[in-house]
Amino acid sequence: MLSLADVIAAMDSWFPPGTAEPWDAVGLTCGDRSTTVERIVLAVDCVPATVSETVEVGAQLLLTHHPLLLTGVHSVAVDDVKGAMVHRMISTGIAHFAAHTNADVARCGVSESLARTLGLTDLLPLAAAPAPALDQLTVFVPADHLGAVIEALTEAGAGKLGNYDQCTFTVEGTGTYRPGPGAEPFDGELGVLTRKAEQRLSMVLPRARRAQVLAAMRAAHPYEEIAFELTEQPALASGTGTGRIGLLDRAMSLADFTAHAVSCLPRTAWGVRAAGDPDRTVRRVAVCGGAGDSYIDLARAAGADVFLTSDLKHHRTLEAVTERAQPTGPAPMALVDAAHWATERPWLDTAAGLLAAEFGSAVDLTVSDTVTDPWSLHVH
Ligand SMILES: [Zn+2]
Repeated sequence: MLSLADVIAAMDSWFPPGTAEPWDAVGLTCGDRSTTVERIVLAVDCVPATVSETVEVGAQLLLTHHPLLLTGVHSVAVDDVKGAMVHRMISTGIAHFAAHTNADVARCGVSESLARTLGLTDLLPLAAAPAPALDQLTVFVPADHLGAVIEALTEAGAGKLGNYDQCTFTVEGTGTYRPGPGAEPFDGELGVLTRKAEQRLSMVLPRARRAQVLAAMRAAHPYEEIAFELTEQPALASGTGTGRIGLLDRAMSLADFTAHAVSCLPRTAWGVRAAGDPDRTVRRVAVCGGAGDSYIDLARAAGADVFLTSDLKHHRTLEAVTERAQPTGPAPMALVDAAHWATERPWLDTAAGLLAAEFGSAVDLTVSDTVTDPWSLHVH
């Protein structure tokens, strides 16, 4: 039997809420974590149509990309559309959960799903999030205390690399010391040079655990004075972050790429628009699911031939496709504007795939194809 808490724990492991933007409101809007979940509806938006869909299929959870209550709320009275939805979900035993900017940046996230839908490979984040900061601790331990020190450091959080733990490196050697007046040596006599078989032990640790790891080292190490080195590893980019840039398997014109986007993305009244020379060759493609106009400069700096996103505005688009149009320079990066909903809809399949792999037949999954893009008509 699957509980709502189980589903949330899995979602949080793939889309950690701590990676959401500070202004965002992700997680559970309504619902009881002890509820049994047998059916889930996945949708981009929590709107009356998708709530109705959730009621109709008898699901206990509506999982959406966009939060329902993103801005300050002082009432969920039924008078208001959102309040009415909250009431309807609570009265029909439906929980609502959102993974928003935390789903944007993740591996298996919104932009990565969009990039894969377009057939892009060799993906990298457009604005990479920094990898967690690491320190490297090297400590010299008498050989017969090595196991105890490793155990204490591990317990305090050292030695973890990705999906591996208890990562250590040791090398044997000989340490020397001469205890001076006032010393209380673990081994050896005052004024006499002592030689000890020691191990040089190295382990990485999260910088956030530095104090705990050093305290554990001091507690487990037998020496009065401990010889150790602590170095900060340089900041490295992680594989997560906003947007993605990758390659098409072959170069094509902007006109053909626009048609390709139409064929890959779910259909909307908005369709797909392009700005730039229709004959411009494109192969390196940057994408950002949702509104990505603030990443135009990053996409250009990353060498993109075209940047596909949504909600592009007149002035920024005009500047982007004209400002660098020099006779001898490269053609300005083209821009492609798809419906906001269409750029995020591919992630629902990815999230449903993760849930199916995790929970198998314990849960039925319905990916909503209700087009919640607000643009309903496009007349030429
Ligand atoms: Zn969005």
